[in-house]
Amino acid sequence: MLDISSTKRVHANASIQLLAPAVADQIAAGEVVERPAAALKELLENSLDAGASRISIRVLGGGIDLLEVSDDGRGIPETELRLALARYATSKIQSAADLSHIASFGFRGEALAAISAVSRVHLSSRPQAAEVGRELIAEASQILDERAKARPPGTTVRVENLFANTPARKKFLKTPAAERAQCLQIIYRLALAHPEIEFTLTADDTAPVVFPRTERLASRVARVFRLGFGVEVKEDELLHFARAKPNIKVHGFVLPLRLAVKHSRHIFAFVNGRAVKDKVLSQAALAAAREVSFGGEYPQLVLFLEIDPELVDVNVHPTKAEVRFRDPSPFGFVYKAVVESLATLRLPVTEPSHAPTPTQVTQVTSDLPLELGTQFRAKLEPCASPLPHSVVVTPPSALSAQSAPAVRFLGTIHDTYLVCQDADGLLLVDQHAAHERVTYERLRGLRLEPRPQTAPLLIPIGIELGRERADLLESLAGELAKLGLAIERFGPGQIRVTELPVLLLDSAGAPRVPLANFLGGFADALAADVAPETLADEFRRTLLDAVATESCHASVRAGQTLSRLEADALLAQMQATDFAAHCPHGRPTSVRLSWNDIEKLFKRRI
Ligand code: ADP
Ligand code: MG
Repeated sequence: MLDISSTKRVHANASIQLLAPAVADQIAAGEVVERPAAALKELLENSLDAGASRISIRVLGGGIDLLEVSDDGRGIPETELRLALARYATSKIQSAADLSHIASFGFRGEALAAISAVSRVHLSSRPQAAEVGRELIAEASQILDERAKARPPGTTVRVENLFANTPARKKFLKTPAAERAQCLQIIYRLALAHPEIEFTLTADDTAPVVFPRTERLASRVARVFRLGFGVEVKEDELLHFARAKPNIKVHGFVLPLRLAVKHSRHIFAFVNGRAVKDKVLSQAALAAAREVSFGGEYPQLVLFLEIDPELVDVNVHPTKAEVRFRDPSPFGFVYKAVVESLATLRLPVTEPSHAPTPTQVTQVTSDLPLELGTQFRAKLEPCASPLPHSVVVTPPSALSAQSAPAVRFLGTIHDTYLVCQDADGLLLVDQHAAHERVTYERLRGLRLEPRPQTAPLLIPIGIELGRERADLLESLAGELAKLGLAIERFGPGQIRVTELPVLLLDSAGAPRVPLANFLGGFADALAADVAPETLADEFRRTLLDAVATESCHASVRAGQTLSRLEADALLAQMQATDFAAHCPHGRPTSVRLSWNDIEKLFKRRI
């Protein structure tokens, strides 16, 4: 067999000749099917294109020994079976004009030809209307046999000994375990996008995994994460997001942020139905998660973007999955979609489904609407008075006038956790974490959005940053001034700060954070050729960090006893505060013990 990649340069003087078709096929095959996962992807996409509703997949030896995909799709007519294996033979487009509106995954008519050039293929098919099926066996682009075959309607492609006739390519493969992992990724991705299709997967000697057909995308997503990625998540824990504008739509699910991870591999993005890997989308998800927590961890997430094809280049090279967005980038759009739904995570109070009964929520406290106030600073004083500094009692508001509060404060344990009851059971609320979020949202609402309020410094402050950092900040001075930070060059390694966001100033107008750290850290976080949006983003993040530190200092501590009024006020405020399900560091602010959990603990229920 010819081994393409070991061809030496010995024929330098040979005359030009057309390659034999089998050689051309092998060369082309290398591009289309780099590895088993790429072949598998092609086979699965053919099944999707054929309108399959059930697909079963077998992967042996990492897909190198065997890959088999069976579907119940429309099948291939007997007379076209040979053509399906031929190069540039496709049923999906007819003319160049069709290229501009492709509705199928495939259209190049290359995949089956490429696969059969580098393996032994059994292709069997029976169109829905046919009485009987037919099977073709091919190896290295040669048809070895063709015969009738009893089979249900649909198509099966079985690929054996991939790359056996191209040993040099085979050498580039990773271990069977690694190749298998890649095959599985392809399957899980497709399964995420197609809940309407049943997938059955058998890989080596493991028990088959089934993804039954479902109408609920959330159900499929949870199952793929559990069985495919080993992430313990329940369907009802998934947070849905959706947003639409002319020309662009996005929807999907975020997993709970407690499951956030340090890498972006669990951001599964689909652009117009195709799985893609894209920085813009994963950065948008990261930025959204940062609104909840500064951990800098990526949320796990499934995201479907539908975008006017004019606004995006999808690289349809079979083994790549890259997109390039034309202006405007969908970053802001996706960020907003995700952040809006994360913002709805407040105190997870369950409203009673009918009139409260004695075992459900009853209103015990006064109807006084209470609100945590802005005097957070006072909280740094020892907590002594019964109605503390942190709480402001305001005139009646809509909040409590209409209905009994859905959550009832029962008491404090360990001077730290508020024990509360709602329709669904008990809630333990971490008073410090909760108050931190409430304070933080208030601070950033007051002083940061839409644009930081700034104040000139009475006496400009000179800061030694070293030459490189000073150069960088000086070069950005114009942009930084727009963000509320006015600086000028002062000496070889020095800059002088003349104006700052008020957020960074104390009541006497002096900086409340060490400016050398603040600016030094900020400069270090910037790349030399930072774009204005990234700069604004990075500055905002640095500011928010400062806000978080402040809200942490300004919040009630663990160990401080809250009165009933204060506790009620905090709970009410949490229900009115975006992101209140987490403190600004991403920790949960509450933990639930449902009636169900409690009954199980007492063995009233199994
Ligand atoms: P393409 O998908 O680009 O058309 P392929 O080489 O993948 O090229 O497939 C060639 C043709 O074989 C397809 O156009 C289709 O008509 C047929 N075919 C392949 N797989 C299937 C399948 N699972 N079910 C029905 N038809 C199929
Ligand atoms: Mg195809």
